[in-house]
Amino acid sequence: MPKPTESSATRISRAYAWLLTVLMLAVGLATVSVVGAHLVRNKQEDAAQLMTTLQNSFADNKPDWDYWRDTANVNMRTSFVRVIVKPKTKTARYYYTKHTQAFLKDNWDTWALWSHVQYQKKHGIYYHLAETKHYGTTKVTYELWLSLNNMIELFKLTLLVIVVMSVIGLLLGIWLIHIFARRLNQPLVDLTTAAETIVETKDATYHETLPVPAGPAEVQALGVEFNRLLASLNQQVIRDHQFVSDASHELRTPLAAIRGHVGLIRRHAKDHPEIVPESLATIEASSLAMQELIERLLSLSRMDHAHLAGDWFDLSKLANRVAAAYPVGDHQPLQVITDNSVLAYAHRDSIEQVVVALLNNAEKYGENSQITIQVSRTADGAELSVSDQGPGVSDADKDKVFDRFYRVDASREKQIGGTGLGLAIAKRLIDLNHSELKVVDNHPTGARFVITLPTND
Ligand code: ADP
Repeated sequence: MPKPTESSATRISRAYAWLLTVLMLAVGLATVSVVGAHLVRNKQEDAAQLMTTLQNSFADNKPDWDYWRDTANVNMRTSFVRVIVKPKTKTARYYYTKHTQAFLKDNWDTWALWSHVQYQKKHGIYYHLAETKHYGTTKVTYELWLSLNNMIELFKLTLLVIVVMSVIGLLLGIWLIHIFARRLNQPLVDLTTAAETIVETKDATYHETLPVPAGPAEVQALGVEFNRLLASLNQQVIRDHQFVSDASHELRTPLAAIRGHVGLIRRHAKDHPEIVPESLATIEASSLAMQELIERLLSLSRMDHAHLAGDWFDLSKLANRVAAAYPVGDHQPLQVITDNSVLAYAHRDSIEQVVVALLNNAEKYGENSQITIQVSRTADGAELSVSDQGPGVSDADKDKVFDRFYRVDASREKQIGGTGLGLAIAKRLIDLNHSELKVVDNHPTGARFVITLPTND
């Protein structure tokens, strides 16, 4: 898998940087537009007011500058006025406020930026307003130029402040976000490092776990779930190790017996030929025990990936058929108690195999007592039990008897014979049928193995 070049902290930082840039641009643009529009409107209002006072000061066919200056309160250095009075028959007369003529001399350099706004190379940006009035036959044109330079300066300052603040905010924001994102990702990084350490551990104990962080919740859940997965895999590995060591151990005993008797025959057969048949019988029994063990091991390992297809069948009929075919000794009665017809949904042959295995055990461990197969319908499903009146299984052993190679009393059962795999195989088959197998006490004595099968598909 190609290694990703970017950490999620970098990605988060970049996404936030974009968001912050767009946000700051939008805020900056909005502020600049609002401030700009406000300043221009102020200037327009000032110009309109000046124009009114200028028109009010017009008397005797000429502007009264003194009256106008008193009422209008203007800065004559930055505001210029020209009034053109044009009677119908006479030539036009021009009136200027102080400095206006000098200002207008530079007119040749003027160019309009947009309506009413002019730029003059030496003077800067001006707001120009012109209005024409008719007094009888006389046409009077009033013209105003108001400097926008102060306003532009203010505007430029605002813009500068916004840009500087935005850049500082952006850099600070990105830095903080990067720190925050890294802190947010730290538990994940720690988890990865811990996982790497486990992978690289040479002498794995199969009990290793990841340190679960206190937060955030998702990473904590990941740590917990990862540990559960690890525990289940480790358990499987430990079980497999145990299985291999148990299997080797179980195979060692008959092998040792075979080798011992082969040696015995080689050394003493000549002088004592009477030992040969007995030794051969032991060799045969041991090799048969090995064969049985190997077959059982194989069937268990095959079952790891098996799938058993279910079907409807009558459990009572199955119980009667198995009992009829089962060869019991003379002193061991076998009785079957069944309801009329108890339908169950499972893989029939495998259930039959389990019932036979349970009968085998009842016969082996039941000390020749009566064996009972009972079939009934219960609230949990279709039930089949095999009970005997032998010594039974103690509470401490009730779960363990289903473990591979578990035998309750090794020395006693050595004489009885067996591999310790019968119930493990039975349990696995029942699991594959999505059913239940348990052992309970039989009354008054003995063990009762109960299979509960589903009654729906
Ligand atoms: P084995 O090959 O030794 O019979 P099983 O897996 O069939 O192995 O049984 C596991 C152990 O459970 C037996 O060794 C025995 O101690 C105990 N067990 C099984 N069935 C019975 C029973 N009906 N009564 C008492 N103990 C039993």
